[in-house]
Amino acid sequence: MDWRKELSMNLTTAEEIIEALNLKLSEDEIEKLKQIIERYPMSVPRYYLSLINKDDPDDPIKKLCIPSIYETDMSGSFDTSGEADNTVLVGLQHKYKETGMLLSTSSCAMYCRHCFRKRLVGQNDDEVNKNFDNIISYIKNHEEMTNVLISGGDAFLNSNKKIENYLKELSKIDHLVYIRFGTRVPVVFPVRIYSDAEFLDILDHYNKIKQIYIVTHFNHPNEITEESKKAVSELRKRGLVIRNQTVLLKGVNDDSKILELLMKGLVGMGVVPYYVFQCRPVSGVKNQFQVPLKRACKIIDEAKCNLSGMPKSFKYCMSHRSGKIEILGIMNEGKILFKHHQSKHPENSSRIFELEVDDNQAWLPDDFFDH
Ligand code: SF4
Repeated sequence: MDWRKELSMNLTTAEEIIEALNLKLSEDEIEKLKQIIERYPMSVPRYYLSLINKDDPDDPIKKLCIPSIYETDMSGSFDTSGEADNTVLVGLQHKYKETGMLLSTSSCAMYCRHCFRKRLVGQNDDEVNKNFDNIISYIKNHEEMTNVLISGGDAFLNSNKKIENYLKELSKIDHLVYIRFGTRVPVVFPVRIYSDAEFLDILDHYNKIKQIYIVTHFNHPNEITEESKKAVSELRKRGLVIRNQTVLLKGVNDDSKILELLMKGLVGMGVVPYYVFQCRPVSGVKNQFQVPLKRACKIIDEAKCNLSGMPKSFKYCMSHRSGKIEILGIMNEGKILFKHHQSKHPENSSRIFELEVDDNQAWLPDDFFDH
C-alpha cells in the first residue's frame, strides 16, 4: 500500500481511539478527550497503535501517543528554549553559529504527547519556512555555518519533491559540511521510508554529494521492531548515518533497565545513541512527563554502569535557553555538576558549574545566565 494512503488511515478522533483501545471512559472523560484533541491534534498511525499492549493500563507506547488530562495543565511555557528569539527568518533559526535549523513543516506522522513544539505541530504553519530562496541566501552569507538541520514537525513528512529541492540547494553550498534531517518517521511510521523507492533514490543521490545524517527519536525498547529495523537498514544501505535522541519521560523510560535495553537495541540496529534529553517544561507536558534532575541523574548513572562504551556514548543534556547544557552528575555534597556543551553566547562555551538543586527541581530558570 502507498504510504500516503496508509497515513490517511491514522486514528485522529476520540471515537476511533476509544474503540481501537477499548477504553472505558465516562461521558465527562470523553468530552475532555475531545477538547484536548481539538487543542492539540492527535494522529496515531495504525502501525504504532499495534505496538500498544491494550491490557497494560501503564503501557509506555500508549502514553507517547494518546492524550492525557495533564495536557490541560498550563503551567510551563510553549517556548522553553527561546526559539522565537533565535528566529532570523520565518522558518530559519540560528542559535548556534555553526548550525542553521530549518522548520520545514508543521506536520508529523504522529503527534507525540511530549512534543516541545506542541504550540505548532499539526496546528499552524506560521513558523514554517515560506521563502526558501531567502533562507538559502542567508545560509550562503553565513560561512560560519557548517550544517543545516531540516526539522519540523517531521522532516520526512515533506513530499519527495520538497526534500529533493532542499537537498539540491543545500548541497551546492560549499561551507556546509553535512545536512541533517530530524525525523521520528523511522520509529512511528517506517513504511514511509522502506516502501518509497523514489525517496530512497533521492537520499542516495545527495548523500554522495554531501553527507546526510538522520537524527531520529526512539524513546522505548518496544519501539524497536522488525519494521523500524527495516527502515533504518534501508537508510544505512545508502550510507546515511543515523543517531538517536531520547527524551527522558516519566512513566515511559525513567528506569535504568529500560534505558539499558533501549541503548543496546539501538546500537544493535546500527543507530548511535546521541543525546538523552531532560524533558522541557512545556505547558501540557511538564507535569505529565518531567523527571526531577536528581532522580534522573541516578537513573542515567545506573544505566551507564551496565553499558559498554558505544551504548553509553550519549550525553544527558538540557536544551536550555542559553544553550545545550550537559548534566554531568551528582557530586558528593549533593550538588549537580553541569557543563555547557553548546552555547548561544561564546562567554558560556564549555563553562562548568555546580548547583544546589532541590529534590523536585527539573529545570534551570530561564534567566539563570543573565546575571
Ligand atoms: S515527531 Fe517530533 S516534532 Fe512531531 S510531534 Fe513528535 S516530537 Fe514533536
